[in-house]
Amino acid sequence: MTKHIKITLKPKKEESILRFHPWIFSGAIAKMERQPQEGEIVDIYSANNDFCGTGHFQLGSIAMRVLSFSQTDFNQDFWTKKIQASYDMRCAIGLANSSSTNSYRLVHGEGDSLPGLIIDIYDKTAVMQAHSIGMHLAHKEIAKALSNVYGDKIENIYYKSATTLPPYYVSQENIEDYYIKGKDDGKYLAKENDILFHADWIKGQKTGFFIDQRENRHLLEYYAKDKTVLNMFCYTGGFSLYAMRGGAKLVHSVDSSAKAIELTKDNVALNFKNDPRHDAFAEDAFKFLNEMETQYDLIVLDPPAFAKHRDAIRHALQGYKKINAKAFEKIKPGGILFTFSCSQAINKDQFRLAVFSAAAMSKRNVRILHQLTQPADHPIGIYHPEGEYLKGLVLYVE
Ligand code: SAH
Repeated sequence: MTKHIKITLKPKKEESILRFHPWIFSGAIAKMERQPQEGEIVDIYSANNDFCGTGHFQLGSIAMRVLSFSQTDFNQDFWTKKIQASYDMRCAIGLANSSSTNSYRLVHGEGDSLPGLIIDIYDKTAVMQAHSIGMHLAHKEIAKALSNVYGDKIENIYYKSATTLPPYYVSQENIEDYYIKGKDDGKYLAKENDILFHADWIKGQKTGFFIDQRENRHLLEYYAKDKTVLNMFCYTGGFSLYAMRGGAKLVHSVDSSAKAIELTKDNVALNFKNDPRHDAFAEDAFKFLNEMETQYDLIVLDPPAFAKHRDAIRHALQGYKKINAKAFEKIKPGGILFTFSCSQAINKDQFRLAVFSAAAMSKRNVRILHQLTQPADHPIGIYHPEGEYLKGLVLYVE
């Protein structure tokens, strides 16, 4: 077993790691054998000198991300076993072997015991994203592990970390996005429950597509029949396409990004040709909600993370309250609101309270029909409750 740099924690600071929580904060460190390089592998010991885990070191408030709670070498065999375990789970939930869906998340960071790593699969292409320098340093071995597990089923591996690694590191190390394996096949086609999407992982947001709303979009399909639908913050038009398949009378998609509106229109054309039921508008959400008529039976609010950090929580909650209040004010009687928050820093109760306050302002009777979360390919490690980031409510507004 390779000996890594030894880091000793302050007394009692081993408690969370003994309960398998994968983060160690910088304030918990008592001493270090030497100052590790960023991304270096370290062994973590309690104040009593008991081994607790091995992980990646990084400067910042989360100083170490634990990848193993027993003494381990992060060699090729380790990565292959980890990717195999993630793949087996995606087979068990019917995704990696589905004929109606070819896009899914294979590795969801802490949820797959691989903090700092995201891998999304789009048919024959894997898009890999490192959020920690430790994962960046291992990315070629991880790519090899993907090939070991998938064989020829994955032809291309695109590494996209220039926007997710610390900016100073990206410029210092000249990090660029590139194909580790294969090449741009020009297809960018994702299939989700038999609906086709252009998932542009090169120019698009995140890894190209918001895979995490798959089940929630599917649920909306069952509420869409004969409805007039507003899909606010539409990005690739995901909810709009399910609404159309569900038999909506009219669907309006709105996003402030002109590129997103173009994408939405392309995706509608891809699945429904020139279907006159759909129209899309590049406009700011607040402006649109303020100026729109009372004409929608079904409204989707899926904004970007309003709170990216803990200190932005209060402001973000105001934001959620404000947009939801507009929806409650304007939705038709008997309308259905799908409202979401993807801010990790805001928990379920805080989000619900913001929506509750917005409902109270409208003085309308509101019932909760569904409480939604992220799908099974974005699992939450039971020892890492912070991993629950996507929250949604489906509401009936009298
Ligand atoms: N619902 C989408 C994902 C939404 S991502 C899906 O199912 O895939 C959030 C989107 O909100 C982004 O496309 C972003 O361009 C858009 N956005 C951000 N700020 C906005 C604003 N003020 N008004 C309208 N759209 C905005």
